[in-house]
Amino acid sequence: MAAMTSTSGPSSVPSRPLLNRRLAEFGTTIFAEMSALAVRTGALNLGQGFPDTDGPDAVREAAVRALRDGRGNQYPPGPGVPELRTAIAAHQERRYGLSFDPDTEVLVTAGATEAIAASLLALVEPGDEVIALEPYYDSYAASIAMAGGTRVPVTLRPRDGAFRLDLDELRDAVTPRTRLLLLNTPHNPTGTVLTRAELAEIARIAVARDLLVVTDEVYEHLVFDGAEHIPLATFPGMRDRTVTISSAGKTFSFTGWKVGWVTASAPLTTAVRSAKQFLTYVASGPFQYAIAEALALPDAYFEDFRTGMEAKRDLLAKGLADAGFGVYRPSGTYFITTDIRPLGADDGFAFCRALPSRAGVVAIPNAVFYDHRAEGAPYVRFAFCKREEVLRDAVTRLARLG
Ligand SMILES: *Cc1c(COP(=O)(O)O)cnc(C)c1O
Repeated sequence: MAAMTSTSGPSSVPSRPLLNRRLAEFGTTIFAEMSALAVRTGALNLGQGFPDTDGPDAVREAAVRALRDGRGNQYPPGPGVPELRTAIAAHQERRYGLSFDPDTEVLVTAGATEAIAASLLALVEPGDEVIALEPYYDSYAASIAMAGGTRVPVTLRPRDGAFRLDLDELRDAVTPRTRLLLLNTPHNPTGTVLTRAELAEIARIAVARDLLVVTDEVYEHLVFDGAEHIPLATFPGMRDRTVTISSAGKTFSFTGWKVGWVTASAPLTTAVRSAKQFLTYVASGPFQYAIAEALALPDAYFEDFRTGMEAKRDLLAKGLADAGFGVYRPSGTYFITTDIRPLGADDGFAFCRALPSRAGVVAIPNAVFYDHRAEGAPYVRFAFCKREEVLRDAVTRLARLG
């Protein structure tokens, strides 16, 4: 091989950075680092948000049946199988009184992640500003970047025991270049659920400033303490300027199936589909049939799922408070954001890197969800979508910190 190399000729190693400038800041995710740390140290992983038990047997069996019966083993239709599109439309009607045409106003995607990416790629021109609530789910920043948009964070800040949106700050963030608001309620990682009054004002701003809204509602069925999830699309003037996104992963505890969806007006759905068809084209064939059945489960399923998760929240929230954390009790999602300053720490990164050896637990530093990293520095996120015995074990371990 030596004969083929030369000291003066071109190097065999490409000299330009491989990852393009748009994505350079998204090289590796904290989840990979923290999950590897969990494996290496045998710590309990309350970092990444996936359940440690599968969803309903009946839904799993429905997927097996579809697979055996040869339904969905070949490319399903681009917009999704009709059974699932009909079930999604029926769910929106039954829960929220929103009516969507399954043929023109519903689009099945490879999880909510693809729905978010396709929406931004379809609706954002390079240079458009996209407002997102900070801290934000990690794929938002990357999707805005891939679309060539400029992200404009509006920061949720602690007020009366929860992270709240400052509507004046949101209003001030809108400029003539703002194309789109990227919302998330119930909100990961803070557990905030936007109130009816807040959503009504967001709707007024969107109409007054002619903005589109992409709203990530994957935790729509996980709201606690009597809080209500209200889709933004139900507010006056919003149906035709809102892309509503949800997913089966969180609601039915099958995060590996990657069945997500968009409901929106026909023109918006068509636009999103134009981008989506060149990302995955289609995905999750047999699982689409199973999720069609899941969406038709009786209300008791959704209520039991919600109350079961609420009990897990209570268990972990109490354990964290007893261990000395400042606890922001979430009104939704399956995450708890904590403040580590009562424990005498203020750097969430250092705290999370040390936590496995100090207490045998893995958590995520909220700073990774911020552009203004200093704002997020003292906060750490724990997931409670785990079996009760795992949460009890975690609570016992965390008590060592005190
Ligand atoms: C988990 C999650 C998603 C991703 O959903 P998939 O259906 O797995 O792609 C999107 N948004 C938020 C806020 C999430 O927590």
